[in-house]
Amino acid sequence: MNEELRALYQEVIIDHGRHPRNFKKLEHPSFCQEGYNPLCGDHLKLYVRIENNTIVDASFEGQGCAISMAACSLLTERIKNTSIVEARKLFDAFQILVSDANPPEKIRDYLGKLSVLGGVRDFPVRIKCATLAWHALKAGLDDINNKKVVSTE
Ligand code: ZN
Repeated sequence: MNEELRALYQEVIIDHGRHPRNFKKLEHPSFCQEGYNPLCGDHLKLYVRIENNTIVDASFEGQGCAISMAACSLLTERIKNTSIVEARKLFDAFQILVSDANPPEKIRDYLGKLSVLGGVRDFPVRIKCATLAWHALKAGLDDINNKKVVSTE
């Protein structure tokens, strides 16, 4: 990745980390899933509202490092108006993005703005910060009424 692009990616993460989007409690969510990453201390609550198998709204509350906040902010932006099936595909693609040493171009294209978090693959501890929101999403989708805390450990 060239320096200019890297700087741009950094900017997106810092922007979303400092000014998270959809940072609020959602009224009448289909599920509220807590996520906790004890390694870093990231702790968030993801709210999702689903209608007709489509995610119509998403928001979150919580605190943590800039990466975890940016990741969750970007997630809530991206999953709005996507189907549950699509959200699961995004989860899978995101896992590849952060774990594969050289993720396929089509994965990055598919993820779009979410690709800015791909840089965490060089920092194993940070991968859990970046994937926390996604694990919360998946756990919530797996069990809509699940109120348990999902942990990265
Ligand atoms: Zn973190």
